Amino acid sequence: MEECIFCKIAKSKISENIIYQNSNFFSIPNINPKVKGHALVISRKHFETVLDLPNLIGSDLLDCIKNTTLKLFKEDVKGFNVANNNFEIAGQVVHHVHFHILPRREDDNFNLGI
Ligand code: AMP
Ligand code: ZN
Repeated sequence: MEECIFCKIAKSKISENIIYQNSNFFSIPNINPKVKGHALVISRKHFETVLDLPNLIGSDLLDCIKNTTLKLFKEDVKGFNVANNNFEIAGQVVHHVHFHILPRREDDNFNLGI
């Protein structure tokens, strides 16, 4: 079976795009950003959805979300959204668990829709 795109990125030695990383998660810029600075927090190991994530790595997940967000905070960033899609019906396209971090600026015309 072909390896998923996020497993390939996790295994690749190219780290120049890495925003932040710890033992269980890393973050990279989204290839197709919805807003300026749109990043993804991705698990190093392949898990499909949040339901598959071991509880014990929850603190590394929070650490990666927080430190990635802090690195994206520029002068004009006034807030951020964290979004996570699970299963196709909820909009999941890449079936390797990941969290979107969306820095928010005045007049960015972005609507998360919830
Ligand atoms: P989702 O709908 O939550 O599964 O979102 C998948 C996200 O992965 C989309 O926002 C894509 O733009 C992003 N994406 C897909 N391939 C790559 C890649 N090679 N590098 C960075 N982001 C990617
Ligand atoms: Zn994977």
